[in-house]
Amino acid sequence: MKAAVWLGKEKLVVRDVERPSAGPGEALIRVRWAGICGTDLAVYAGKFPRARPPLIPGHEFSGEIVQVPRENPSGLKEGDAVVADPLLPCGACYSCRMGMYNVCENFAIMGVDASGSFAEFVKVKAGNIYLLPPHLSLELAALTEPTAVALHTVQRSGMRLGDSVVILGGGPIGLLIAELARMGGALPIIISEVSSYRANLARKLGFEVVVPDKDELEKRVRELTRGRGADVVFDAVGLPAVASEFTRISRIGGRIAVVGIYKEPSPVDLREVCFGELTIIGSRVYRYPDFEKVMDLILKDSDRLSSIITGKMELDQIEKGLRLLDEGRAMKVLIRPS
Ligand SMILES: [Zn+2]
Ligand SMILES: [Zn+2]
Repeated sequence: MKAAVWLGKEKLVVRDVERPSAGPGEALIRVRWAGICGTDLAVYAGKFPRARPPLIPGHEFSGEIVQVPRENPSGLKEGDAVVADPLLPCGACYSCRMGMYNVCENFAIMGVDASGSFAEFVKVKAGNIYLLPPHLSLELAALTEPTAVALHTVQRSGMRLGDSVVILGGGPIGLLIAELARMGGALPIIISEVSSYRANLARKLGFEVVVPDKDELEKRVRELTRGRGADVVFDAVGLPAVASEFTRISRIGGRIAVVGIYKEPSPVDLREVCFGELTIIGSRVYRYPDFEKVMDLILKDSDRLSSIITGKMELDQIEKGLRLLDEGRAMKVLIRPS
């Protein structure tokens, strides 16, 4: 089969590799659409410590079952349109046994710790596979994984109807949080984003967009929230400059959900957390209910969500897709491996 194989820093070749054979309890999926994510960019750039070449990256995908597992308790059928949860939890650690397998102590994911979806076929454990709801296209279904990340974050934040929301970072996760917040009745929804490409897309979707510059963000948030600050702040950036500021735009008693991935410890103004009784909430990937529910939400919001997909290309062009994203000239790029 054809696959994009990462061979080391900025070396990705599309070549023939052996088609994976599904082991016990595994199904083989023909990949139809595979999204490129920030994780793939980090792997490509050689900046993802766990990734070891040779590796097929990719963990956001949709496709069709071509081979069902011999033991098949979930009744999968050949030709079923599916997505798959790419997490590979150990099942044995404390987190896994507590049902919090998304924060497994031996965290592993397809496309980093095992072969991923930039290939014609992938093998996946049957228990990680989800059937598409009728009428959801395979193309939009490729957004399931990142949208599940967004849904888990919104649920963790405790956001309610009518809450004012600020989203720091207007990349795919930030925009998907904004879409779900909109569906959940948040008002207003303010996105803070420095890139003009991303800011324009967010504006086109009807969100209030602030380009953070000096005190502009805090000023604008206060203007839009009767001077109080936001009920819920989402950090979809994960940079120290954001952590040092997010307490200032939260209202007294507000909640701050952190989904952006920090690479290093970052200072947070704990005086404001204490004096304002703020709540800071962590959110990592997703769990079973997020993955299942989110496809119905994608279907309901399909017209708007399809505008987040700004590029579609063949597997041979994957490096072009990576470049577009790296240069900030795309939001979500989908690869069509077969
Ligand atoms: Zn991803
Ligand atoms: Zn575990």
